[in-house]
Amino acid sequence: MSVTQQQVLNALARVRSPRGVALTDANVLSPIAANDGKVFFSINVDAAEARAWESIRAEAEAAVRAIPGVTVAMVALTAERKPGSAPPPAPHRHGPGVQPVSAHRPPQSPASPMSKQSEIPGIAAVIAVASGKGGVGKSTTALNLALGLRDLGLRVGLLDADIYGPSVPRLTGIHEKPQLNDERKMIPIRRFGLAIMSIGFLVEEETPMIWRGPMVMSAITQMLRDVAWGTLDVLVVDMPPGTGDAQLTLAQNVPLKGAIIISTPQDLSLIDARRGLAMFRKVNVPVLGIVENMSYFQCPQCGTRSDIFGHGGARHEAERLGVPFLGEIPLHMSIRATSDSGTPVVDSEPDGPHAAIYRAIGARVRDQLQGVIAAA
Ligand code: ADP
Repeated sequence: MSVTQQQVLNALARVRSPRGVALTDANVLSPIAANDGKVFFSINVDAAEARAWESIRAEAEAAVRAIPGVTVAMVALTAERKPGSAPPPAPHRHGPGVQPVSAHRPPQSPASPMSKQSEIPGIAAVIAVASGKGGVGKSTTALNLALGLRDLGLRVGLLDADIYGPSVPRLTGIHEKPQLNDERKMIPIRRFGLAIMSIGFLVEEETPMIWRGPMVMSAITQMLRDVAWGTLDVLVVDMPPGTGDAQLTLAQNVPLKGAIIISTPQDLSLIDARRGLAMFRKVNVPVLGIVENMSYFQCPQCGTRSDIFGHGGARHEAERLGVPFLGEIPLHMSIRATSDSGTPVVDSEPDGPHAAIYRAIGARVRDQLQGVIAAA
């Protein structure tokens, strides 16, 4: 059953705002996305008022979920610090002029950038897969790495936090929508033995997604914490590309046990990779290592290897920067074809050479996380 924007507005008109008027008259609502029973919008308020609005966010979400036909409702509370106004006392401020508000965090001391973090119950290690820029194969690597970790006997989840261009629906062939459990948490889709969640499951592929800074964090926080992940050894987070404020905020907010940087051999992307490294170091997230993707060209017919891109740059760079080099993945048609057809190579060609490469990278990652996983 399809739900219209008007139905959503009617429901929201019955929610009273702290400003004494109906929520729909408070001038705080973003445009409402209502597609196929899935409703998404944000409430944008000034940071100073944010606390008072948290219960309204929950009320608004409940009101929308109560509309017949709504399968998923996600309401983000975002708060913006007006230029020139004093920063709010808590929680910690991050990013220029931007104050994301999380629904699920206890008040924290603003002393350290990591003070906003709290573990996600049931998940031993959350790790980020990041890249300095788009198109380097970050998502392909994140998924196949998750599968490599699965093959090592770990319980693994994959969160597609690349909210600007979620590619996990395409890479996994998942087109179904997550259902809600009794606690109103989204149930991740299980495929290939992984628990998978992506914002792309909630919106239509053609829907352009334009996110204002604070919404990014709010949406990602909800995808982390309002999802019934169950018990996982590792949750692999496919980060948005780049190393801007959104990424920094995410790295500060999510209790990451480590980050992996994907780079192609080209110099430019290595410069970007260096930025990524600096970013994670700034927020004390250990860099588990660098992966060189599309490292060399492997001829699909004869298997001959050609180092057409001046391969080896990432290994050298990793050595220079003192971080582990996790492995190199060739540019190969079958990686591309399996990725683009929703049948990731580690799963569809488990005995092939590429699966072995991803598993080897997975093993290096697992070894570094061993202590954390064992402790959990
Ligand atoms: P990103 O997440 O960095 O934007 P993707 O994982 O979406 O990148 O990959 C971009 C494109 O490159 C996709 O078409 C994917 O199939 C292809 N690709 C990624 N890694 C490889 C590889 N090692 N060999 C061949 N094609 C690849």
